[in-house]
Amino acid sequence: MRALVKSRAERGLWLEDIPVPEIGINDVLIRVRKTGICGTDVHIYQWDEWAQQTIPVPMAIGHEFVGEIVEVGSNVSDFHPGDLASGEGHVVCGRCRNCLAGRRHLCAHTLGVGVNRPGAFAEYIALPMTNIWRHHSGISEEVAAIFDPFGNAVHTALSFPVLGEDVLITGAGPIGLMCIPIVRHAGARHVVITDLNPFRLDLARKLGATVAINPTEAAVAEVQKQLGMLEGFDVGLEMSGSRLAFVEMIENMCHGGKIAMLGIPAKPMEIDWRKVIFNMLTIKGIYGREMYETWYKMSVLVGAGVDITPVITHSYNYSDFEKGFEAMMSGNTGKVILDWTR
Ligand code: NAD
Ligand code: ZN
Repeated sequence: MRALVKSRAERGLWLEDIPVPEIGINDVLIRVRKTGICGTDVHIYQWDEWAQQTIPVPMAIGHEFVGEIVEVGSNVSDFHPGDLASGEGHVVCGRCRNCLAGRRHLCAHTLGVGVNRPGAFAEYIALPMTNIWRHHSGISEEVAAIFDPFGNAVHTALSFPVLGEDVLITGAGPIGLMCIPIVRHAGARHVVITDLNPFRLDLARKLGATVAINPTEAAVAEVQKQLGMLEGFDVGLEMSGSRLAFVEMIENMCHGGKIAMLGIPAKPMEIDWRKVIFNMLTIKGIYGREMYETWYKMSVLVGAGVDITPVITHSYNYSDFEKGFEAMMSGNTGKVILDWTR
């Protein structure tokens, strides 16, 4: 089968022929239909320090996908050939304290699909049945292909109640952008989002942000005043990984404000912890998605009409993957899809 493989320890990815994965009795084999390119895949493409330390070569990469189940192991009774499914990108151990308690997203021994084990940028992927999410009927394949990052957005955006609350999102990358319709649906009042990139700020407006600003051109504190907010944001969603953005968020939270933090800083970062203490802030780190409460909510949100399609800005055939990665690296994209059906 064709697959995008990190086959050399240098910049780039290569389309290669590799064997179709074999399945065990508890596994499911999926014929991949559409995939999404994640920032992680770009790190692997660029072969940065993190990728060099993390990715064993050769490795078929990719973890955002939708496909059709074509074969199931003899122990699998819940899934059937023909089902449209995506996969949770973290394969957990099942035996640690958190896993046994049903808190699988907190497993300390998780393996990443397309990072530590073969990925989804391929014609077929095999996964344990415990990693499969069957889609509700009527969903678009493009939206289904990005359930993984949509899940990051849902898990982060719904970490704290937002009904009637004012929400600050720092970073209008694909995940920050998807948070807008989610918190809108969940009843937020003002949704303010920041980014340095005008293309992404425009997308944020399309997705329903109250105000979308470049923080180097307009101060978040000023926006608060214009909106008549007296005490600061109730909920903050950090989606940039930028220290400057995080510092500005902390400055603009109300007393008792809650911050959910998904953005990954490139290195350890300093903040004024006195602000966290005296303003009595709660900061929650978020990794991945909840298995499978987040997935349940995603399907229900899509069914209820929450529309994340404006975040999908580019689509290419998989053989044109270089164009997809170039678009991602330009920064002027939302989600970029690769189509494996043609
Ligand atoms: P992305 O890199 O596409 O988006 C980040 C955005 O932040 C960019 O648009 C960038 O212009 C913007 N930004 C940079 N500096 C800023 C500043 N000072 N103020 C405001 N915005 C600024 O990433 P994404 O795919 O949307 O993911 C969002 C973040 O979440 C990234 O840091 C990513 O590494 C991280 N992530 C974490 C998890 C997890 O499980 N914790 C999973 C996926 C992604
Ligand atoms: Zn575990």
